[in-house]
Amino acid sequence: MKPIGIYIHVPFCEKKCPYCNFYSIAPTKELIASYKNRIIDELYLLGKKLNRTANTLYFGGGTPSILAAETIGEIISAAKSAFKLKSSEVTLEVNPTSASKINFDKLLSYGVNRLSIGLQSANENELQLLGRQHTVQMARNTVITAQKAGLNNISLDLMLAIPEQTLESLFYSIEFCSELNVQHISAYLLKVENGTPYFLNKNHLNFCDDNSQSQFYLAACKKLEELGFLQYEISNFSKPGYKSQHNLKYWDALEYLGLGPSAHSFINKKRFYCKNSLTDFINASPTIDDGFGGYEEEYSLLRLRLTDGLNNELFFNRFKKNIPKRYFENAKLYEKPGLVTLTDSSIKLTKPGFLVSNELISRIIL
Ligand code: SF4
Repeated sequence: MKPIGIYIHVPFCEKKCPYCNFYSIAPTKELIASYKNRIIDELYLLGKKLNRTANTLYFGGGTPSILAAETIGEIISAAKSAFKLKSSEVTLEVNPTSASKINFDKLLSYGVNRLSIGLQSANENELQLLGRQHTVQMARNTVITAQKAGLNNISLDLMLAIPEQTLESLFYSIEFCSELNVQHISAYLLKVENGTPYFLNKNHLNFCDDNSQSQFYLAACKKLEELGFLQYEISNFSKPGYKSQHNLKYWDALEYLGLGPSAHSFINKKRFYCKNSLTDFINASPTIDDGFGGYEEEYSLLRLRLTDGLNNELFFNRFKKNIPKRYFENAKLYEKPGLVTLTDSSIKLTKPGFLVSNELISRIIL
């Protein structure tokens, strides 16, 4: 059995960003203590029940960097005991706002070896429009301090199609990341999610239309590749050897265990998730069943998000048969318009294909 990934959702943010719809609440000492105890109990409980090993651990949020280094250390230590986590990728999402309080030396000694830092933009006006609480300088200091401590696998998040963004300001942000010598960049198109303050204000903010969104995306892909960041997924780019091992499990439809409010899991062919409620999580309320996973269509849908796409060899290894012929027939319709590339044994989306991936993938695996 392959090692699983473990995702820990840390549901605390000092202040909510107006575009964000992830589950998070304001932290208190008591809530953090109860949350940590519950996470550790769950790790031991599920470690015993599942009897599996893990090789990636990912602290996402919310704002994991709100937690004290010692708290993160205790959770890592529990994961090591319960899931024999060793020589693994251990990622911590970091918000530059909380970075001045972070002890990177301690984190490194506890086993954190990868950071994912929420930069979003290297332009102050764009950070303000996004409602971020940090400055560009705070983000730069975070990266430099972490590097000095010996953390040399760092990812920066960038946002594309921010109101008021121009191609020039986008290129400035990308060059800023490159000059900081980071190994990985995630570049997401800003989505106006239902129910967020951005959504309520959408008529007053200068959001990009579809055409400009495409321009930003394609220009970012090109610029990132010129600077040596190779695209491996719709929104993810890395220097050679630095793909996110944890996130690859999602796109390869491999197993992972998600702990914490709103965290999702895929174990033993079943998908399930925790409710969006810290109280329910602390009270050990049961997870919610989300049906079966890992079947052919789902696997294909996830793999087509990767630049490597779908290929017969991997498909055969998993399902003991070739990719269904109809996938190739359906995909063939989009070859000429430049949305897919095909060989006898593989289907891959192109960059313009990635821009319409949801619609395109569903048409391929009809
Ligand atoms: S810090 Fe991150 S998780 Fe928290 S509100 Fe902002 S974007 Fe969302």
